[in-house]
Amino acid sequence: MKSKKKVVIVGGGTGGLSVMRNLHRKRKDLELTVIEPSEKHYYQPLWTLVGGGVFPLSKSERRFNDFVPSKVNWIRDSVESFSPDQNFLTTKSGKKIDYDFLVVAPGIQIDWDKIEGLVETLGKNGVCSNYSKEHVESTWEAMKAVKEGKAIFTFPSTPIKCAGAPQKVMYLAEETFRQRGVRDRCEVKFVSAGQAIFGVQKYRDALEKILERRNIRTAFKYDLFKVDGPNRIAYFRNAESGEILEEKFEMLHVTPPMSAPDFIKKSPLANEAGWVNVNKYTTQHNKYPNVFSLGDASSLPNSKTGAAIRKQGPVLVNHLLSAIDGTTGTEEYNGYASCPLVTSRSSCILAEFDYDGKPDETFPFDQAKERYSMYLLKKWIIPFMYWNAMMKGYF
Ligand code: FAD
Repeated sequence: MKSKKKVVIVGGGTGGLSVMRNLHRKRKDLELTVIEPSEKHYYQPLWTLVGGGVFPLSKSERRFNDFVPSKVNWIRDSVESFSPDQNFLTTKSGKKIDYDFLVVAPGIQIDWDKIEGLVETLGKNGVCSNYSKEHVESTWEAMKAVKEGKAIFTFPSTPIKCAGAPQKVMYLAEETFRQRGVRDRCEVKFVSAGQAIFGVQKYRDALEKILERRNIRTAFKYDLFKVDGPNRIAYFRNAESGEILEEKFEMLHVTPPMSAPDFIKKSPLANEAGWVNVNKYTTQHNKYPNVFSLGDASSLPNSKTGAAIRKQGPVLVNHLLSAIDGTTGTEEYNGYASCPLVTSRSSCILAEFDYDGKPDETFPFDQAKERYSMYLLKKWIIPFMYWNAMMKGYF
């Protein structure tokens, strides 16, 4: 009897879990193993609404085991190093695991400690972040506590997951201040290391109008580097002039710097920037043809979102199964990413675009317009599709 090919998947998040389920559904001749340290799986896109007080964190959480079919091996451990020339990897507990084919999807690393004073004050003193499952619920507490003063929303100089999330939380906060009758006494400000409110022109134009209409201030090219929690002062540095900007705040929502996970950065799988070095159209590794990667840890130069994974997944599976069968894959990933830009608890702009920043929209109407229907899509329909289709291997 022909022996089964061993496929090992590193990370059981959005990318790893959806690929594992898809492979399990399609092929019975594979020995599938997923290495995932966490007992819980989180649907992170919901954290925007958790931070906005719409849902509790528990709504975004499921037991990981509920998604692992009985014929798939789940190793509850963390990968520490790769030996791709010998086709094995090593885990934190010292296990050596060999494979025929490898899928690497451990997500992005959040570098909280790169901002001085942040770790000590996160979740206190009006400092919050939707990017931390431990603290996302404190965003809503911080929003409700504001009675006057400045609410600041930051955006770092590094690549991040869901580049729209740092501003979605701001629109929900501004709406909260209005609903609670304190907006007149508050200043709302977006302080970003980036150059503009959004990368894609069509949606940028629409968002700039919203900022103006809702009297939200912006400062670009300023990167947060230090927080003094007890005195509520945030320190930013201008990327060009080096000028330091000191801002007193009542509420500070921090989008922290992020990077490839350290164990990827130091591995032979990484490119110069630390990401898993794959072909941008096929997801196949540029040096090791039996290695594939998708999602936030990959070098795919798209906007890092779960929506992008929905399009990367089928391409990865196509090329992986072709490699297993000794043929050549035919599908190509065009850089599709999507970002439902929630602008209030009843409106949303659904941005969808490709590698070239060209809109790549689903609906036959102008998606740059704020719509209630797109908010319902974000709040109910996409989460339903995530749990019931994507997490069961239907992309
Ligand atoms: P993840 O889903 O993060 O999974 C990585 C997995 O790898 C984790 O389970 C982790 O435990 C595991 N892992 C880590 N290290 C190791 C190791 N050493 N060994 C083994 N396993 C390891 N996307 C959208 O499409 N739309 C949105 O509206 C949206 N909003 C967002 C809002 C917020 C606040 C956040 C935080 C994210 C948002 N995203 C959104 C982004 C989306 O959640 C991510 O892009 C997506 O989850 C990335 O999937 P991934 O599989 O690459 O990583």
